[in-house]
Amino acid sequence: MTIRKNTTETASSRGGYNYMDLLSEWELVDKDDRFKEHAACKDADPALFFPETAANRVYKEAIAICKTCTVYKDCMRYAINNKIPFGVWGGLSPKQRERDGEQILASILGQA
Ligand code: SF4
Repeated sequence: MTIRKNTTETASSRGGYNYMDLLSEWELVDKDDRFKEHAACKDADPALFFPETAANRVYKEAIAICKTCTVYKDCMRYAINNKIPFGVWGGLSPKQRERDGEQILASILGQA
């Protein structure tokens, strides 16, 4: 997979955006994004999911929203399969996805 994204960009450096739209700039290997229609974060502040400071404590509010989301498994799968290195997806921070993402995903999908 080729990743062309500048991973140092943040929500505010981009001048605000719908975070789902950000992905139009990526070469996605997993294009199944139907979960977006049912995302609990649809109307949430993108800065919660893509904060300036990438520390786990900062993602707390976003992760709380993810815990209410009916499509978190698909969201997590999408972020892990596409190796998205920023933002909260499926209730996981970038570090959590990088470190344990595939194992967590396999576990929740019953493939572990
Ligand atoms: S799991 Fe979280 S980031 Fe993904 S769609 Fe649901 S609320 Fe949004």
